[in-house]
This record gives sequence, C-alpha cells and structure tokens, in this order.
Amino acid sequence: MSELLVAEGQVVTVNYTLRGDDGEVLDASTVEDPMAYLHGADNIVPGLEKALEGKAVGYKGKVTVSPEDGYGERDEDDEPNAIPRKAFPPDMEIEAGMTFMAEGPNDEHAPIWVIGVEGDKVIVDSQHPLAGRTLHFEVEVLGIRAASEEELAHGHPHGPGGHHDH
Ligand code: ZN
Repeated sequence: MSELLVAEGQVVTVNYTLRGDDGEVLDASTVEDPMAYLHGADNIVPGLEKALEGKAVGYKGKVTVSPEDGYGERDEDDEPNAIPRKAFPPDMEIEAGMTFMAEGPNDEHAPIWVIGVEGDKVIVDSQHPLAGRTLHFEVEVLGIRAASEEELAHGHPHGPGGHHDH
C-alpha cells in the first residue's frame, strides 16, 4: 500500500498557527482541537491548500500566502456598515468575529462579518477581516483519510474538527 497523500477528496486534519506580517497570532488550532478540512473543496484559503497538496502525515512547514491566494485584496472603497441590532435574532449574543449570511434584494446570499457592536448598532463588513493581509501559516499535517460520500456531497468534513452545525 502506498502512503496516503493530501489530494482532492481527502479529509485532512491539520494543526496550524496563522500570523500577520508583524508576527501577531491571528488564528490558531491546537493539537487537542485541530482543524479538519476537505481538500479541493475551498474549505481553506487557496494558497494554503496548494501548499499542502501531495504532503504526507507528519509534514511540518511554513507557508506564506499573499492576499490574492488568501482572503482577497481589500477594497478600501467598500466600508463597514452599521445595521440596527434588531435585524439580528433577539436572543443571540452578537460579538465581533461572528459571520452571518446576508440576503440581498435578489435572494442572493453573501457573508458579512461582525466587526463590532456600538449601542443599538452592529457594525458589519462585507469583506473578510483578513482581506488584504499576507498570511503566515505554520502548519502540521496530523491526519489524512478518504472523505465519505456524505462529506463529498456536503463539501466539508464531519466529525471532530469539522462542521458541527447541522
Ligand atoms: Zn455536512
């Protein structure tokens, strides 16, 4: 049997630390609570996905991802908006960092990110908080397995480290 390598249709479990240009930690997983993603399904930024292609369990490396291969360039003309608090579910605690799907006038859905709460207004941005940033990942591949039919159909992994919201 040949060694399993990171490829399309594999669920890959990684432990990672993401830093900005200044070395500040922007996001991180832990060995106890790693991240699982479905390779080839746009679960992670393209630059990191490309760098992990063909790697085996035990791979450890540093990956620098440009905004273009990360969360996109930042459009400085597209400024954050204030939305009334009452537009959100009343029993939900709204905090910076949360993501919602906003419905447009033609029934289209687009993600919005909460960047703050000011009184009865929620400040949201239609751009990812890390848009325009160069991303510096330290990443280790902890596991690789074939995705189930259901995971392939959903486009994301289930189980530990995967999606738990359905
Ligand atoms: Zn699912």
